Amino acid sequence: MGPKFDDKTKRTLADRVNSLCSHPDCRAQTKGPRGVDTDKAVNVGEAAHITAANRGAARYDATLTDEQRRDASNGIWMCGVHAKLIDNDAEKFPVELLREWKKNAEEAAFQHLGRTQPVANHTPRVEADRNMFRKFMATVPSSGSIGFLRTFNFAGGSFSRDALGELADYHNAWVGPDHEFLDEDLESLRKDFSTETLQILAIIATNTWSDESGRRSSVPAELVRVARRKLVV
Ligand SMILES: [Zn+2]
Repeated sequence: MGPKFDDKTKRTLADRVNSLCSHPDCRAQTKGPRGVDTDKAVNVGEAAHITAANRGAARYDATLTDEQRRDASNGIWMCGVHAKLIDNDAEKFPVELLREWKKNAEEAAFQHLGRTQPVANHTPRVEADRNMFRKFMATVPSSGSIGFLRTFNFAGGSFSRDALGELADYHNAWVGPDHEFLDEDLESLRKDFSTETLQILAIIATNTWSDESGRRSSVPAELVRVARRKLVV
């Protein structure tokens, strides 16, 4: 028999993830009451080896000592199903992936510690949308073109074409599925924004006159009415 985890290590591994399976799509509870006896509990979880205890088994690392193989740092708490699964498929479940799962499961347990309210669940989808939103805000900050449209009085004046540069950048760069939000409501808002942006740019392009330098545009009086209605939100 190879170097097994002792009971204390198993308990520690389970405690550090609140006894939930560390597989991110599972998170099954692994401990609970057993029967009606008040002194019995059941455990359907297992301390699985990240690198195998035995030569020839999944993710075996010949460079480790037996001491290291049974150390808590080499274990990950899983439900019975997923413990079995990862022990039989080293290719699908490499060491780096299991370490990532372990880290995330421990982080989630830490986030929930001592809290009575549910913690916002940052799923990969939400995380992807957060990143997309950060990109969006970097491309079109409220202090840039949008702020300009909010405050500029178009009445007969002229403005620097750079003032609308961010909207043009957005319009040029944010096409295609790699710039879509996964959340339907967010994506619907973004589509509306894209439509408005295109309309604004089209109105400016066809209705304002560029000066000799090409850097400033002047606004004819009749555009003012359209602009006020359309752009000032
Ligand atoms: Zn599981």
